[in-house]
Amino acid sequence: MPLEANAPPGYIERYIHSEIYKMYPAVNSIVHSHASAAVPYRILDTSTPVYDVAEHYQPDEIRDLLIRSVPLGQALASSFSKRHSGLTGPDHAVVFMRGHGSRVVPSSIEDCIFRANYTKENALIQTTSLGLRNAYHNFDEAQIQHLHYDEIEGTKTMGEATCHRPWGLQLRGVEDATPYGKE
Ligand SMILES: [Zn+2]
Repeated sequence: MPLEANAPPGYIERYIHSEIYKMYPAVNSIVHSHASAAVPYRILDTSTPVYDVAEHYQPDEIRDLLIRSVPLGQALASSFSKRHSGLTGPDHAVVFMRGHGSRVVPSSIEDCIFRANYTKENALIQTTSLGLRNAYHNFDEAQIQHLHYDEIEGTKTMGEATCHRPWGLQLRGVEDATPYGKE
């Protein structure tokens, strides 16, 4: 709901944000990204959940992949967690959206920007690894050596502790860029 009665209409996909904030009180920052490097990863069998909007369209709804309604936003918010009650924060920080992009919801703005950037960077690294691997081995043997679970936990802690490092630079970049900053 806009604060000013005469405010111009908000962006149609605002339901992505509103329904996640309603469902997870611990979330206070969300990035919705169309980073093309990450879009193909919905076809791989990864532990990152995939939201397919086609499973949730109403019969008379426009089918353009956009999250145009509260029910579509609620379904997307639900895909961040397998539990359905007593939720404060989501089980997953990232969800891929089939044919559309990805969504990142850590608990701080700095961590959110950090993870959104590295969702794209990690997708580029993994795609490059797959290409190199397949260039030297039969496709059937293609295996990427992923992080071990204890490494995932360790790097998560490390990322949360260091996401403040690039934050000042990113902030300065926005402040210096029109139309956000001064001429
Ligand atoms: Zn979008």
